[in-house]
This record gives sequence, C-alpha cells and structure tokens, in this order.
Amino acid sequence: MSGSKKFYEQAPVSREIAARFPDLHPPFDATAAIPEASRCLYCFDAPCTAACPTHIDVPAFIKKIASGNLEGSAKTILDANILGASCARACPVDVLCEGACVLHRYNKQPIAIARLQRFAMESLLENGSQLPFSPGPDTGKSVALIGGGPASLACAAELRRRGIRAEIFDARALPGGLNTYGIAEYKLPLADSLREIDLLAQLGVEFHFNVTVNATQLAELERSHDAVFLGVGLGAIHQLGIAGEQLPGVVNALDYIAAYKSGQIISAPERVAVIGAGNTAIDAANASVRLGSREVHIIYRRGPEQMSAFAFEYEHAKQEGVEFVWHAKPASILGKDRVEAIELVRLETTHDGSLVPKPGENLRLQVDMVVFAIGQSTYSDFLESGRIKLERGRVVIDRATGQTSNPKYFAGGDCVNGGREVVDAVADGKRAGIGIAAWLDGQHANA
Ligand code: SF4
Repeated sequence: MSGSKKFYEQAPVSREIAARFPDLHPPFDATAAIPEASRCLYCFDAPCTAACPTHIDVPAFIKKIASGNLEGSAKTILDANILGASCARACPVDVLCEGACVLHRYNKQPIAIARLQRFAMESLLENGSQLPFSPGPDTGKSVALIGGGPASLACAAELRRRGIRAEIFDARALPGGLNTYGIAEYKLPLADSLREIDLLAQLGVEFHFNVTVNATQLAELERSHDAVFLGVGLGAIHQLGIAGEQLPGVVNALDYIAAYKSGQIISAPERVAVIGAGNTAIDAANASVRLGSREVHIIYRRGPEQMSAFAFEYEHAKQEGVEFVWHAKPASILGKDRVEAIELVRLETTHDGSLVPKPGENLRLQVDMVVFAIGQSTYSDFLESGRIKLERGRVVIDRATGQTSNPKYFAGGDCVNGGREVVDAVADGKRAGIGIAAWLDGQHANA
C-alpha cells in the first residue's frame, strides 16, 4: 500500500476492456454453491487436496460452505494458500484438484472446486476483507524479497506470520507480477489481483516499486537483511532472430497482454499472427480476437499433439475463432514502415524427430501484427551475482526449504521451475518462508 491508497484503488480502469473480457467462469451465488458443496463426499485423504500444490484442505473448506460458515471456509483456504482467490480463477483445475476428484470414478461431474473456492474467497473480499490471521510477534529479523509476484507474496505472508520483517522490491509500479500483468483478463482481472494483495498487505508486508535491483544493490540488501528471497520469475521472451523482427507491429506476448490489461491498448489490428503454442500464445491470440481482430493465426513448428498449451486452452482458442498453422515456422517478417506480412516455411519431422524445411512449400500470410510467445530467458547474470548455483539458468534449491547453494539466499517460482502455474509459485514461496524462519531460528540458536 503506497501512501494510504489501496492497490485496488490504483488499478487502471478500462470500461472497454471490462466489456470485451467478461468472466470466463462466472462465480457461484449461494443458491448454486450450497447444493454443489453438498455433493462433495468429504473424502478422507482426499485426492483433490493431494493434487493441489499448496494442499488446500478441500473437503474441509467445502464442508464449511455447505454449513454456511463462509468465513471459516475462507480461513481454511488462506491457511494453505494466501492467494486462494486468484488460484481459484487461474489454476488449471482440470489437471489438478478437479481432475483428481473421486466422482470421476463414478462417471459423475467432479466437484466444481474452483468455483466453490472463489465463492468462499469472494464472500470474504466483499465483506470488509479482514484477513483471518495477523502478524507474529516481532523477531527483529528481516528479509529482502526480490520480485513482487506470487512466490514472493506467499513467502512474505509466511514470514510476517512468524514476526519477520518482509520487504518486497519490484520493478513494476504495482505488485503481483504475472498475477497482475500476465493472466488473461477474462480469467483474473488486474483489479482483482490487486484486491487480493490488499488483503495480504494487512500482514504488514512492505513494498518498494519501480525498483530494478542490480548486482550492487543485491549485495547491499544481502548485507542489510538476515536473508534474501529470489522471486524474480523469468526474463524477456526469446527473440525470433529473423529479418524484419524490428519492424513496428512486432510485439512480445507478455508486453502485449500487460498492455491491454492495464488499458494501454483497447483494440488490436485486423490480422494477427501469434508465434508459439503454449498457454501464453493462446492467451495472446484470444486477446486479439476480443480486441477486435478479424483474422488470428497461431503458428507452430510442430503439430497439435506436441503443443504445450493445455487441451482445454486449445479448445477455448478454437471456440474464439483462432486458426492454427501447424508444422510451420516464420522465415521473415515483411513490411516497409511496419508489419505487412509474414513469410512461413513449412516443416517436416525427420525420423530422429528433428524438423527440416519442406522445399518449395513456403507460405505468406498478410498480417498487421506479429506476437511472439516462444518462451522466456532467465535472469542468470543477476542470479549468478548472488553467488548461487544455477542449472540451465534456473536456481538450484533444496526442495524442502527453498534454500539455494548460498545459505543466505532462498528462491521459488518461475526462476526455479522454469515457468509453471501461479499455485506452484505460491507453494514454493510458502515453503521458502517456512524454510527461512527455521534457518534464522537455527542461526539464532548457534549465535
Ligand atoms: S475428491 Fe471430490 S468428492 Fe472427494 S473431497 Fe475432493 S472434491 Fe470432494
């Protein structure tokens, strides 16, 4: 909370974007939530809880909804996952809790866990938003957290609950990282991500924005704090490395998504080509449709079976009218002052799985914008300045505590796992917060 204004109140508001990106999964009201909660079998050793990276006690929070104890239900969720509201809207539940629900075995609809979780969390957020727990007694210890995304937020919450000062440093103007700037608006609106962080901020987490911590500053933070948590996520999206890539009209998917979410752009040109077939590529393609593009193509060097996006995301994109060009890659981007077309090379897969151009099978698409979503680099230079071990640019940690090869440094989220879900970052951050507190206790005991 900078000055007195809540983060939620600082959210850029665009009626246009709100109108174009209505809720993909509208929330339950009480008349729908209670019968749904009563369908749950409240399994012992529930597979849904085991499938949740933060191990939310699903049967417990659902039972509390069924008995009308919404505050208790929200507390059960928050105890395990401080970002329970955003996870309810961003988690790929088909491959997590709902995918594990035992009702599948009986050919029944799985429990709508995500919408019940959202129902409980929104009742708390709407009724004055008091966090059902408070900071622990002050220990005099402090931790600097680099990056203000889900991993750092979850870590900071655990630290504050144990009386440890938590100072978050983020390069952007608002907290939340990909939660705030990177998740499709019809899944998690920017303002709702901030509303959730306002709840967490009640624990007394301190925030510093528009701060890009460099190696010198990192060394200074290491000196002035008892430990450092690295929640820096991943770096820039990889470049295509082809002619015409510098033309106006070539953008990377994350900047593009952040731009419409913050209302900086409210429309997209007629014809758009998106390079890549992961979840981010799908989000960028769907966003282009919602922003008014008439023709949107996703271009991918392999086939639908090899795409990294979830099957339900692929289905969704087809429903939005996105078209797919398989087994092709961009050779060059054409245009005088800005993008006018993209030249594609058709590819075939050889016996050893490598891709080779199919001679004489080039394809040209007339487009006005090219969005690339082909994976992100890592912040290896910065991370190495912390004198910590990396593997393939990713931070190596003790999976039980989040501790890195440099004992004073802990890490979690995408800079460790290479880019997974919000809930994975929350699980990492939580584990590291607990790990840091135990390590500081140990330090204190040995002092
Ligand atoms: S597995 Fe399904 S039925 Fe069992 S507790 Fe979880 S949500 Fe309820």
